Amino acid sequence: MIEPFKKALPVLNRIEEAGYEAYFVGGAVRDYLIKREIHDVDIATSAFPEEIKGIFKSTVDVGIEHGTVLVIEKGEPYEITTFRTESEYKDYRRPDKVTFIRSLDKDLERRDFTMNAMAMDARGAIIDPFHGKGAIEKRMIQTVGSADDRFTEDALRILRAVRFAGQLGFRLEKQTQAALGRHAHLLEHIAIERILSEFEKLLNGKSKKESIQLLTEAKIHHYLPGLSDKGTAINEIAKADINSLTSNQMWLFLLFILEEPAPQEFLKRWKMPLKKIKYLTKSLQILRNRAKREWELLDLYEAGIQSAIDVEIIYSVIKNQKSESKIMENEMKRRFELLPIQERGDLDVTGNDLMIWRGQAGGPWIKEELQKIEHAVLNGIVKNEKAIIKEWLESWNRR
Ligand code: ATP
Ligand code: MG
Repeated sequence: MIEPFKKALPVLNRIEEAGYEAYFVGGAVRDYLIKREIHDVDIATSAFPEEIKGIFKSTVDVGIEHGTVLVIEKGEPYEITTFRTESEYKDYRRPDKVTFIRSLDKDLERRDFTMNAMAMDARGAIIDPFHGKGAIEKRMIQTVGSADDRFTEDALRILRAVRFAGQLGFRLEKQTQAALGRHAHLLEHIAIERILSEFEKLLNGKSKKESIQLLTEAKIHHYLPGLSDKGTAINEIAKADINSLTSNQMWLFLLFILEEPAPQEFLKRWKMPLKKIKYLTKSLQILRNRAKREWELLDLYEAGIQSAIDVEIIYSVIKNQKSESKIMENEMKRRFELLPIQERGDLDVTGNDLMIWRGQAGGPWIKEELQKIEHAVLNGIVKNEKAIIKEWLESWNRR
């Protein structure tokens, strides 16, 4: 058994010793068989939530109504979920009823794709009633049972299928692929937070070109915020050299190609964190400038290094060049390091100095004055040394 499982093994053993079944399930088992890096190991059990809480000292109720208890073991958190079935998805999203059961097979049956419907026991044996292993060997994504039924039950699975295709570089099984477009409209019932979380993973995928092609072929974009009539623009993106781009870079590229007039509103519709919205709208403006002219020292300074890197990489993709991200990143870092100052904190004077020199209380003038100094330092008019700046300011004010 390999590391993340080995470490979690005592948790399985404890549950078994208490007389219940327990298995590793889902993404971790899949990634282990694909030989991908495993992040979190999820555990499924025949024990009911209250029984799990009786076995472990340190637990947190994170989703007890869905059967999930968080167990902290040797400082590591593990999500332990009781075997369950889900029934009657009347609103195409959440199951109306979650029923706890004692059967692993029934629990695996409710899962989305065969590759995600496997379990591994404490002895390392794989339980695979839906031939997920075979699907992985064929590098194929296939729903457990009828694709039409599974996508109607929970339309997020449509987006998950497309995201996994690009993330793993797998293709979709024929029936699964054919069903995408038939049910894509049901994505309108899905909470935007769930959609965003899958879409971010899609945009990070190493074969995201595939994902994006699937997205437009099945017209899934029709049901995504702000993208409903943007098929042409999205196809343009799919043609570019995008596979190595990060999700932030992809958002930037998307906003640029869409010529989005209200980027902030667009991103708000996706319910993105405000900090990220700020970063992307600022970077979009810098990218639009960059498309018109070479970097000036002030542009670079105001962008900050991360934004400068993201912008330059997307600019090169737009120009139809290969996105040699690493080279571009190093070049921007080199240029950034040549700036006399990289951020306001690097200035050899502070607002406090200015107040003392002028004998004047703080106010909006300080910001203006600091900006004047920044510009002068960046343009090489004055050296970034306190005494020299002071002298320069005095001569300026005498003028
Ligand atoms: P990742 O590696 O990106 O986390 P994952 O497969 O682990 O992928 P999770 O969202 O963490 O995805 O879900 C864990 C498991 O729960 C899945 O492997 C799958 O068995 C099941 N699952 C998750 N979402 C759904 C869904 N919408 N419908 C059915 N089963 C699901
Ligand atoms: Mg997971």
